[in-house]
Amino acid sequence: MKDDTLQYPDSRGHFGPYGGRFVAETLMEPLRQLEEAYAQFKADPKFQAELDFDLKHYVGRPSPLYPADRMTKAWGGARIWLKREDLNHTGAHKVNNTVGQALLAKHLGKTRIIAETGAGQHGVASATIAARLGLKCVVYMGADDIERQSPNVYRMKLLGAEVVPVTSGTRTLKDALNEAMRDWVTNVDDTFYIIGTVAGPHPYPMLVRDFNAVVGREVIVQSREQIGRLPDALVACVGGGSNAIGLFHPLLGFPEVKMYGVEAGGDGVETGRHAAPLSAGKPGVLHGNRTYIMADENGQIQGTHSISAGLDYPGVGPEHSWLKDQGRVQYTAINDDAALASFHECARIEGIIPALESAHAVAYAKVLAPTMRKDQNIVVNLSGRGDKDIFTVAKHDGISLG
Ligand SMILES: *Cc1c(COP(=O)(O)O)cnc(C)c1O
Repeated sequence: MKDDTLQYPDSRGHFGPYGGRFVAETLMEPLRQLEEAYAQFKADPKFQAELDFDLKHYVGRPSPLYPADRMTKAWGGARIWLKREDLNHTGAHKVNNTVGQALLAKHLGKTRIIAETGAGQHGVASATIAARLGLKCVVYMGADDIERQSPNVYRMKLLGAEVVPVTSGTRTLKDALNEAMRDWVTNVDDTFYIIGTVAGPHPYPMLVRDFNAVVGREVIVQSREQIGRLPDALVACVGGGSNAIGLFHPLLGFPEVKMYGVEAGGDGVETGRHAAPLSAGKPGVLHGNRTYIMADENGQIQGTHSISAGLDYPGVGPEHSWLKDQGRVQYTAINDDAALASFHECARIEGIIPALESAHAVAYAKVLAPTMRKDQNIVVNLSGRGDKDIFTVAKHDGISLG
């Protein structure tokens, strides 16, 4: 990997042949303004100090790098470390990004935040930070998702957000994203659109990555302190790819650190019922950028399936597509069953109930660890906690929670 990897995307938002800005003319100017504003604030020590303050005192950073020694003992091979993003305020890595983007919104004088959400996690993280900053918040959510995720819908309402049901298309995340874009075009003067993952048109994949990169930066410091050197391997689940790129990006320049991105294999990649565009998709355009997507021969976006709502997306951030093509990161898929087994195992032997998304990463670490030496180290990004998933898991296990 060349040293200049860390400099990407280029000035037009390209990661090699991926990324870019495939949007209607009306969105070009707002995106350009956002890019300019971000470049300015990124270089502003006062903005960075404010961001650091929020990450420390509101989010609760740094999150611990925890040695999962019972897991290590049970699996054999490399030592397992869990990066505890589940301990952040609101219970996942997503708040790293919403805190950053909301601060941008405030500095730009915007009074209204909009966001899209699938399972509701990004909606809750956006509503949370909007409440704290006294900004109005509107969250677009597929009508089917609203029905499936009622606790998160209620949380958003408690936080003062308005949740708008989206009834077009498949009534899920990808339609909510389209609707949020439409709102933004109409209300760009007072409105800031907080995208929840490293997808969308430039500069979003870069912006969301930068705000999540605090995870990888902390891992560099913590592993040198606790292990005495950098880890040998990193493992993270990949939905849109924000928690994974947040962990990977600061370490891309160290070729000795191997990286593994874990997609949702659903019922099995060979069944077609999955959410693994890097493992089984091909390049195309979705939500304003060129990247690997799941589409049929006519370019129609295919339905996805995963037990974890947060991984259930037919596209992936463009930077991951590029890292895949270059071979810098290995991408694999873990099926629902293996993720569920790891969900239970992590709870039982470490006393940590992981998010179902994160359980995919844990499941792959279980495959990887025994192939490595005892003196080697794997850092697994525990992207979130599993409280939100107990209803899904109980239902799958045939247990009624009343
Ligand atoms: C949303 C979510 C994910 C997937 O999103 P990425 O952008 O791929 O990180 C993973 N884990 C948790 C806990 C989530 O809430």
